[in-house]
Amino acid sequence: LFARPCTFVKSVVRTADLPPDGPIEVAFAGRSNVGKSSLLNALVGQNALARTSNTPGRTQALNYFDLSDETLMLVDMPGYGFAKAPKHLVDGWNQLIHDYLRGRQSLRRLCVLIDARHGLKASDISLMEGLDSAAVSYQIVLTKRDKISAPQLEKLIADIAVVLKKHPAAIPQVLATSSRKGLGMAELRAELAMLA
Ligand code: GDP
Repeated sequence: LFARPCTFVKSVVRTADLPPDGPIEVAFAGRSNVGKSSLLNALVGQNALARTSNTPGRTQALNYFDLSDETLMLVDMPGYGFAKAPKHLVDGWNQLIHDYLRGRQSLRRLCVLIDARHGLKASDISLMEGLDSAAVSYQIVLTKRDKISAPQLEKLIADIAVVLKKHPAAIPQVLATSSRKGLGMAELRAELAMLA
């Protein structure tokens, strides 16, 4: 998998522009500022793959990256939780995202990124409920774990484990990562390798 550089494929803003189903897709979603761009860059070992600190809510695109010669695509989803928009699946998300999450054959796993300092928020739970009903398999990936202590991390993971029992499409394992310190990247890569 991580042998060759990951490349940007396209930015999709309309359902009609989604690439044909084929390569396995792993998508990444989370509240704005959760550290998603930093995580994607650290994951593939490239500094400028996903733009960091993008203006919240500016783009509502799905950004496709080819991880390995069209066998595994990484899909960078727009950040959520920033706007007091009408409630859909989660605040501020549009039709494209709904269509994508409900009907995408190739989507094998969605990584729900959670800031280790903040834990699960209402908008995260809202997304998780949507994923449960769409039967999209998802996994909680904690970000910025360098910001909390080991006992705090342990408690956070235990609290999340309790919540996950109520979410049928959730994978029970929670991954803790830090893009800044490079923590958890090997584990996340191993997860992706198992899906490919
Ligand atoms: P995005 O909006 O979800 O794409 O988030 P970014 O990747 O742009 O990161 C948001 C902020 O969190 C930036 O100030 C990053 O420097 C910071 N950040 C991201 N990852 C980490 C991390 O692992 N540790 C720490 N301490 N800060 C991080």
